[in-house]
Amino acid sequence: MDTIRSLVTGGAGFLGSHLCERLLADGQEVLCVDNFFTGRRANINHLLGQPRFEVMRHDVTFPLYVEVDHIYNLACPASPVHYQHDPVQTTKTSVHGAINMLGLAKRLQAKILQASTSEVYGDPDVHPQPESYWGKVNPIGPRSCYDEGKRCAETLFFDYYRQHRLRIKVVRIFNTYGPRMHPNDGRVVSNFIVQALTGQPITIYGDGSQTRSFCYVDDLIEAMVRMMNGPDDFTGPVNIGNSDEYSMIALAQEVIRLTGARSKIIFEPLPTDDPQQRQPDLGLARSALGWQASTSLQAGLEKTIRYFSDLVAAPAGATEI
Ligand code: NAD
Ligand code: UDP
Ligand code: UDP
Repeated sequence: MDTIRSLVTGGAGFLGSHLCERLLADGQEVLCVDNFFTGRRANINHLLGQPRFEVMRHDVTFPLYVEVDHIYNLACPASPVHYQHDPVQTTKTSVHGAINMLGLAKRLQAKILQASTSEVYGDPDVHPQPESYWGKVNPIGPRSCYDEGKRCAETLFFDYYRQHRLRIKVVRIFNTYGPRMHPNDGRVVSNFIVQALTGQPITIYGDGSQTRSFCYVDDLIEAMVRMMNGPDDFTGPVNIGNSDEYSMIALAQEVIRLTGARSKIIFEPLPTDDPQQRQPDLGLARSALGWQASTSLQAGLEKTIRYFSDLVAAPAGATEI
């Protein structure tokens, strides 16, 4: 069989860089497209020597003419700090980016996967969240550029599927963590670990009773690849994540325990529209993909802590962050 050529948009980001690495290991040719808004060269430097790997600086809100077989559409800032920095650009990236990548897939008759999100469920009043739940999303709040942008991208995927018979795949990713998260992107796992390692107080927003379910990056990448390589008649949307649910207080305590830090816990105001609880219903992922997350929070945190320890210990300027 000919070598599969995959395009990964957002390939220099946290998840994208792990995906590029995995696809190269599977023997594919990989084109990484990124505008380096939140992505970093340091995430993909180690792949640059591989002849089957190529990087292109490009913003997906503009048309892209390349030749590939599979498209993984991950381009989009994912942390609230980053996606709220330029909310108009966030919506453009989700919506115009999706249109351009779908147009590309249509011209090439390529298979295309969308990295959607649990944020399409908003602040859910159904718990845990199955794919059939339509969500409770504020259309005009500070998180809306991301939540509604991702919802509109799903709409576009399903309209291209119905109207143009495109082969689509939609995965709804729940909170994922691991090495190469951006240390300053404000997400809870990276914040807590960096705070613990640098002796700063751990910042809990609100009273810390809100919950999230955390998936380790390797588990998530395995699910994404299975989804892409699965039968064409399974489009999703399918939830991908880990169903073990933790309060932010419990997460802070676990990070303090595993780092041996002496950090105090301090409480800060809860951001607007911060969901109170979140846990994926993973029944569909199990039955359709034969997949479930296998990394425990402790094992995943230990690997992530090792990554951030090296980053924090590196002399200033030695590691591009
Ligand atoms: P990230 O910020 O590390 O990666 C996003 C990448 O997209 C970055 O490399 C960034 O430079 C690039 N990018 C942003 N706008 C772009 C544009 N207009 N053109 C080209 N490139 C652009 O975030 P991540 O955690 O790796 O997330 C990857 C994808 O997965 C995102 O689409 C995100 O919405 C989705 N997702 C992630 C999580 C999670 O917990 N990590 C959860 C749900 C969904
Ligand atoms: N597009 C692209 N690369 C391609 C083909 C299309 O970036 O190889 C973009 C192009 O900007 C277009 C969009 O995808 O506007 C949607 O394409 P589609 O064919 O669905 O619609 P149309 O060309 O009619 O706008
Ligand atoms: N959070 C926190 N302290 C931090 C960063 C985040 O308590 O330093 C909380 C945040 O309010 C939210 C949860 O942790 O309730 C997860 O936040 P994150 O930004 O990682 O993801 P999302 O809200 O998008 O699920």
